[in-house]
Amino acid sequence: MDLSAIVADIAAEMADAPDRGRPADYIPPLAAVDPNRFGMAVIEADGTCHLAGDAEESFSIQSVSKVFALTLALGAVGDQLWKRVGREPSGSAFNSIVQLESEHGIPRNPFINAGAIVVADILLGRYEPREALGELLRFVRAAAGEDGIFIDENVAKAEQDTGFRNLALASYMRAFGNLHHDPHVTLGVYFHQCALAMSCRQLALAGRYLAAGGVNPTTGRNVVSAQRARRINALMLTCGHYDGSGEFAFRVGLPGKSGVGGGILAIAPGIASIAVWSPGLNERGNSQLGTVALERLVQRTGWSVFEPR
Ligand code: GLN
Repeated sequence: MDLSAIVADIAAEMADAPDRGRPADYIPPLAAVDPNRFGMAVIEADGTCHLAGDAEESFSIQSVSKVFALTLALGAVGDQLWKRVGREPSGSAFNSIVQLESEHGIPRNPFINAGAIVVADILLGRYEPREALGELLRFVRAAAGEDGIFIDENVAKAEQDTGFRNLALASYMRAFGNLHHDPHVTLGVYFHQCALAMSCRQLALAGRYLAAGGVNPTTGRNVVSAQRARRINALMLTCGHYDGSGEFAFRVGLPGKSGVGGGILAIAPGIASIAVWSPGLNERGNSQLGTVALERLVQRTGWSVFEPR
């Protein structure tokens, strides 16, 4: 199997794809992104890297950052975190508020907005706001082995200016006692984490610890325990695409986390860390062509976790 050829073929197929979905338009910096962009990076367990299309171009990773924030928060407070966040798929939109009422302010999982806002609040139990963001940046840079990763202040500001629904989620959880800081302060951290800018190559590099049983393959050091890596992968598979998580498991069959910037991080445990980016989204807010590209990759490689080894 010539993986470089497979990745190049998929990128070429995506370049001509007629149905590209619609880029997010709730903030100007995302609405301004060229919908014809497509990038893909596959990094194998031995470090071999296969890039295609716009794999080196930075984009707003948005909710993909929820994976890194969760990893950091679990490192800070351990499994205590699960007292404040659930582990069940929501079956609802990423920014849904409805389940918070019947579930007493406990979000269904850490990968919907409400859950990620609590995770940010948990980080604030350990760090000052600036420090929390510094830690997150340090974590992602160390995981990727790249210092060039940054937070796009423009995007963070635009999120802040329009984030009324997130403010509602945060305030509502605060009313239940499941937010321990001023909602504006917690959201300041959350919006900045969403504004992390990375390329597909950097994102795939940063995800390697999840493909490698918790170990950063470059340093040989544990980022998280093997058990924790396995559990994060399980949550990505069941909750990483909101109300499209079942569909993503059905079509791709890999743990994956999407963001409204059009990026997806997907993990083939023991095999590869994969990042795709195409700004057009499907009706569930997940990258339209990113999903198609991953579907084709697993069809051609047999990497789905449901495929016999
Ligand atoms: N910044 C976005 C929001 O909070 C992130 C959502 C996403 O990527 N799905 O609405």
